[in-house]
Amino acid sequence: MKQDMLEEELASLPILQWAYLKTERISFLDRVRTICEQECSRYGTSWSCPPAVGTVEECRQRCSRFKDVFVFSTIAEVEDITDMKAALATRMEHEKITKQITELFQRYFKETLTLSTESCELCKKCSYPTAPCRHPDQMYPCVESYGILVTDLAELGGMDFMNGSNVVTWFSAIFHNLDIN
Ligand code: SF4
Repeated sequence: MKQDMLEEELASLPILQWAYLKTERISFLDRVRTICEQECSRYGTSWSCPPAVGTVEECRQRCSRFKDVFVFSTIAEVEDITDMKAALATRMEHEKITKQITELFQRYFKETLTLSTESCELCKKCSYPTAPCRHPDQMYPCVESYGILVTDLAELGGMDFMNGSNVVTWFSAIFHNLDIN
């Protein structure tokens, strides 16, 4: 019943696809963390990124408090997918939708944990590491920062990872417990 009501509300949002997964099926991989460390310029610059989010094992334990995961995707068309700046600019719309959906889940479930895209950009300059996060309730670490591959989530959920040559596809995941209000 609760799920029906939730899905009715979700249907009015511009989501491309969604899936419900079990947390126990998700892999938390140290090798994803190694990529953050070696290849991402955001590493060590935000509360939403490693190392601030904790070890991959700590991330797995945080997620394991929840049995269920709602994974969803949105898309945005760009003129040229190789134009990284234009492709990344489409992310903010996905983040807005992620916030809306998180708030929706928070109305139905006592506790939730949201992972989204890239690193948090709520503040002009992140307070990391000198002061605590200014908006811990609205800050969503990125899926990869927890050692999770977005391609893995898409595959588990039977969702499309690629949606066209000039189409950017964004994914977020909301951990929750379906049977606890
Ligand atoms: S809310 Fe602000 S302080 Fe917290 S992670 Fe985001 S940018 Fe950093």
